[in-house]
Amino acid sequence: MRQSQLFTRTRKEAPTDEISKNAQLLIRAGFIYKEMAGVYTLLPLGFRVIKNIERIIREEMNAIGGQEVLMTTLQDPKLWEKSGRWDDSVIDVWFKTTLRQGTELGIANTHEEALTNILREYISSHRDIPAYIYQIQTKFRNELRAKSGIMRTREFQMKDLYSFNADEAGFRAFYEQCAQAYMRIFARAGIGDVTYRTFASGGSFSPFSDEFQTLTEAGEDTIYIDDASGRAVNKEVYTDDVLAELGLSKDAMREARSIEVGNIFPLGTRFPEALGLMYTDESGEKKFPYMGSYGIGLGRLMGTIVEVLSDDKGLVWPHEVAPFAVHLVSLAGNNSDVAAEAENTYNALTERGIEVLFDDRDARAGEKFADADLIGIPTRVVVSEKTIAAGGIEVTDRKTGSTELVPESAVPDYFSND
Ligand code: ATP
Ligand code: MG
Repeated sequence: MRQSQLFTRTRKEAPTDEISKNAQLLIRAGFIYKEMAGVYTLLPLGFRVIKNIERIIREEMNAIGGQEVLMTTLQDPKLWEKSGRWDDSVIDVWFKTTLRQGTELGIANTHEEALTNILREYISSHRDIPAYIYQIQTKFRNELRAKSGIMRTREFQMKDLYSFNADEAGFRAFYEQCAQAYMRIFARAGIGDVTYRTFASGGSFSPFSDEFQTLTEAGEDTIYIDDASGRAVNKEVYTDDVLAELGLSKDAMREARSIEVGNIFPLGTRFPEALGLMYTDESGEKKFPYMGSYGIGLGRLMGTIVEVLSDDKGLVWPHEVAPFAVHLVSLAGNNSDVAAEAENTYNALTERGIEVLFDDRDARAGEKFADADLIGIPTRVVVSEKTIAAGGIEVTDRKTGSTELVPESAVPDYFSND
């Protein structure tokens, strides 16, 4: 993509109404547009990042047997009345709307009820389970506060998977598989080394759940980490009883600030019981399947990556989520040879299947470099009079700042492993 044709542009000043680093940087770099508090539009660069995050999550969910669906945002209150969760005092983040003849509808904040109800149509025998069903879909939550940029918004993309197993043992095995898939997702997203599987409270369904907490001062949670085992415990459940159960000792644990990027939850038979989902086992007995739910917020993850990896010059994207692999910067000025060589390099890289943002704009070198640093594409390639005289291109790693001159003849090989 040619930067001269990108309709967005960077801005020097951070927006004054944003206090979070992730939103400030993403707005300055032209990745997102703020519609209102807690509501953001994805612009081309941000859209590419979310699509990459989506791809990573989809690959890992498919690898553990997930089947993808896309459920509706408008929901039937009757299902929520069955589970006892329609009342605003039970779920305080509800958005609701009303049809013209007066019927109330729910605007989805989660999908346990809706999916359990659908499955009454398809699950009746032990041969029909296990079933692992997920979607990547918009959720609406009337959050009280929206001060964390794209990490806590009122409208956001969530991957939510729901598991249905015949018994608790089957559920447990899948739950562990999914926990491992989550760690792979966060590793691929570049935050694996600062993300901890964290023992947390289970809300109303189960005594416990596992959160995936990423260390950042911008986080809203406090956790305690045992470095030896790599285990962590949320402050909400940091009691002597819990520590004893987990075999952890207070003396060995350090306190840290963190944000929840994902959450996996045992649900037991609560929703199948409420909505009437049963299967017949081998001996002809009717039973309720064991259920679990598994969420990741895509915008939350994107914002967390920004909080953790960006530096004083701007964004720093890990390879797999970067909007482009290479930021090609042409410093042609009025020199048509340099412009032609930059075009050649653009074509050569693009032909190799490498995704390139080509800064072909008529702008000063300083401005182009500052923008490249702000946008944060992992590899910057410069073509200039100087690099041509030296017989190659200049390649700089955004993260480390290390620069090398790659001779023209070596360019194809240099990028062949991307
Ligand atoms: P939190 O405790 O942060 O309010 P939650 O426990 O209500 O989140 P879940 O219902 O478990 O969240 O949702 C699954 C995932 O969706 C969370 O782990 C998080 O990544 C993401 N998420 C939840 N609420 C939001 C939000 N308001 N904005 C963006 N992402 C969110
Ligand atoms: Mg939570």
